Amino acid sequence: MGTFEIISKHGEHEQVVFCNDKSVGLKAIIAVHNTALGPALGGTRMWNYNNEEDALIDVLRLSRGMTYKAAAAGLNLGGGKAVILGDAKTQKTEALFRAFGQFVNSLNGRYITAEDVGTGVKDMEYVFMETPWVTGIPKEMGGSGDPSPYTARGVLMGMTAAVKWQLGKDSVRGLRVAVQGLGSVGSHLVRNLVEEGAKVIISDIDPEKVKRLVAEYKVEPMAPEQILAADCDILAPCALGAVVNEQSIRKLKCKIIAGGANNVLAEARFGDQLKEMGILYTPDYVINAGGLMNVFVELEGYSSDRSMDKTKHVYDNCMNVFSIAKRDGVGTHVAADRLAEERILSVGQLRQRHPGNSSRAFTTLREVFKR
Ligand code: NAD
Repeated sequence: MGTFEIISKHGEHEQVVFCNDKSVGLKAIIAVHNTALGPALGGTRMWNYNNEEDALIDVLRLSRGMTYKAAAAGLNLGGGKAVILGDAKTQKTEALFRAFGQFVNSLNGRYITAEDVGTGVKDMEYVFMETPWVTGIPKEMGGSGDPSPYTARGVLMGMTAAVKWQLGKDSVRGLRVAVQGLGSVGSHLVRNLVEEGAKVIISDIDPEKVKRLVAEYKVEPMAPEQILAADCDILAPCALGAVVNEQSIRKLKCKIIAGGANNVLAEARFGDQLKEMGILYTPDYVINAGGLMNVFVELEGYSSDRSMDKTKHVYDNCMNVFSIAKRDGVGTHVAADRLAEERILSVGQLRQRHPGNSSRAFTTLREVFKR
């Protein structure tokens, strides 16, 4: 299949940039999916792809996902992503990331990068030496640091919305919540849930993490192979994707699924099935947008308080998704896409009619650029 055929098969991307610098061994692809709402933001993944086509498909898919996530989150951002082809363990150098930074800079703010799988804060520091169009830089350089506390706070907000919608209650107090995965997001979520008075069940494949949280919060441990079938009100997947699949769906006993993990549904058809089963699914990219909100605040000039405050919007965003699902008689996974598409269309057209009035993020970064 030709390159343009692959691109059009995976969405209506505005721009795809192939970056090549032989002297430093850089091969990268930047995909700008949509800038109707603002500059395209999304992290840079460094991965040893089997072939170049896989890398292209990955960056196309991920950048499209970012458009929907930012739009549904109500942010003035579009969707973009970058991939660097190579081994993150052995092929990272200062020169490679600075060369990549120069390519990012050449897009003059149409694309803003960040960390992703295989890249970290140190790499973004090198990118920042060449371009201001980067987030996820260290706190002491004006960056926003670790996004997971904000992601977890947003998950609590989305979970609270789901509880209101499904159970008519104002909080998670007294409800049984099963948390799968006690990493960066899951561990913060457990703390938030305990503070809110929920009865928390926890699980991780790493027994040390379970032990630590049981000791700290007196929560109930459960074996990893049992957690998806836990007798609970809410299941909060905070580990890997595809947890709702052919095998697990029949075992679910929860009334709500609301967690931080990406790509919770193995396939879209499981979203329809959850609807038929009467289980309220809180779409992953809507409920886990707190980290993206945190990065957005970095663009405006970072404040941790403002960032935490912004995560409250996840409550309303989830409520909007549930309302659209009811209005259209569709699953919440479909409703989330509709929420994003409706905003891209209405606000995007507005911005086209008034092209001089760019988003505030754009203006602030431009000021950085002038310094
Ligand atoms: P992490 O790597 O810190 O934590 C993942 C945890 O899941 C680990 O403790 C791991 O041992 C555990 N785990 C793996 N398989 C498991 C299983 N079968 N059963 C139980 N536990 C298992 O990752 P994270 O940053 O906390 O992210 C968790 C999820 O949230 C991922 O899907 C990620 O893409 C998504 N997410 C994270 C953020 C963020 O701010 N970090 C933002 C948006 C989405």
